Amino acid sequence: MTPVPQDLQADRARRRLTIGWGVDHSGEYPFFDLRVACNCAACVDENTGVRILDPRSVSPDVAIEGMQLVGNYAVRIQWSDGHATGLYTWDYLAKLCPCPRCMRRSGAGDGNA
Ligand SMILES: [Zn+2]
Ligand SMILES: [Zn+2]
Repeated sequence: MTPVPQDLQADRARRRLTIGWGVDHSGEYPFFDLRVACNCAACVDENTGVRILDPRSVSPDVAIEGMQLVGNYAVRIQWSDGHATGLYTWDYLAKLCPCPRCMRRSGAGDGNA
């Protein structure tokens, strides 16, 4: 089952995107981590799945300029460094969720995608 965020809030002062997944569950995603995790064709090789993006090339100050919902399954994020081709699906964001509950669970059954 794919989780759907109830709430998406980019906090530019704290450089975090807060995603509310539902009652008692929300994750605070640092902008930088999200930017580095971008899996668009420019950041990850489509054929090999190897990450092309070098995290060192990303500014630690990178921020979200805008967000645009794509259908009901993803959000497209416009970054302050001009990068705007990355789609973050709910599925992917759920996998990246940095809340303590998800961190504890991560590593289990992470096969495809
Ligand atoms: Zn990208
Ligand atoms: Zn979580």
